[in-house]
Amino acid sequence: MRTKSAESVFTIGVDLGGTTTSFAIVDSSGKIIAKELISTRTSSVDEWADNLSCGIEKLIVSSGIGGNIKGIGIGAPCANAVTGCIEAATDLPWKSPIPLAQMMEKRLGLPTTITNDANAAAIGEMAYGSALGLKNFIVLTLGTGVGSGIVCDGHLLSGTRGFAGELGHMTFSFASDRECACGRKGCLQTVASAKGIIETTRRLLRESDTPSSLRDIPADELSPLAVQQAARDGDNIAREIYDFTGRCLGMAAAEFASITDPEAIILFGGVSKAGDLLLNPMKEAFRQSVLHLYRDTVKLTVSGLRDADAAILGAASLPYLGQD
Ligand SMILES: [Zn+2]
Repeated sequence: MRTKSAESVFTIGVDLGGTTTSFAIVDSSGKIIAKELISTRTSSVDEWADNLSCGIEKLIVSSGIGGNIKGIGIGAPCANAVTGCIEAATDLPWKSPIPLAQMMEKRLGLPTTITNDANAAAIGEMAYGSALGLKNFIVLTLGTGVGSGIVCDGHLLSGTRGFAGELGHMTFSFASDRECACGRKGCLQTVASAKGIIETTRRLLRESDTPSSLRDIPADELSPLAVQQAARDGDNIAREIYDFTGRCLGMAAAEFASITDPEAIILFGGVSKAGDLLLNPMKEAFRQSVLHLYRDTVKLTVSGLRDADAAILGAASLPYLGQD
């Protein structure tokens, strides 16, 4: 997917998040040459696009790379690779749909490709991370929600309208009593997202008298990170929270395995920082529930890339896609 002979070719990778937008100049080997960030909380999308264009131009000048820029890739919530638009993104402060690719092309005169943030992470993993060299894998992004990017036979699945692979909204019986932001019940993200972890914490604290340091944390300060820390300090409730979450992820991953027969399922995002606290129960539940065909063939792992970098690197790879 990367050109080997053209060392002097660069792309711009943009990770558009709900609060900040990170962008970087990346060379063809995946090295970040220069990086910058701007606020996403502007009053209009035009103001944000002007700020981003200005920031990219400055970065190009200060890094002295000249005009060898192949294109811009943007990873963004609810970004549709087929239409080039952001569709109904609830995490962004602007009205959707937003014709993002077109807006940036008009401002900078560079070909611009967009994809949703989970897909950008999947591409980043494929180009530079844990999925390097793999042709079949699934990335699950465990953040505010649960997103996913599915690569099958070397291609990122996008589907008819660009919405393929919303695995976070597949429903499971272990979450049947939880309502999802999408209006349905039982979605994986009601358990495996940051909000899901907090909900599990509330439930376990309510249902038992077991002493826990989590009881001392004000409700609005509870976070997956706080639960991770408590679990590492030996707190039984905190361990149970990650044990439950890991088991749910294992059961879900067992079902996902049969969709594409992947070589790996890679966890990414804040919740996955729990590492073995999450992976060990996940692996055990996966083995117990997966169809025998996939029992010993799917590697379950946590991304080795830093979150922001994987998204930027994935986005920066977009201009090369389809060129092999
Ligand atoms: Zn849902």
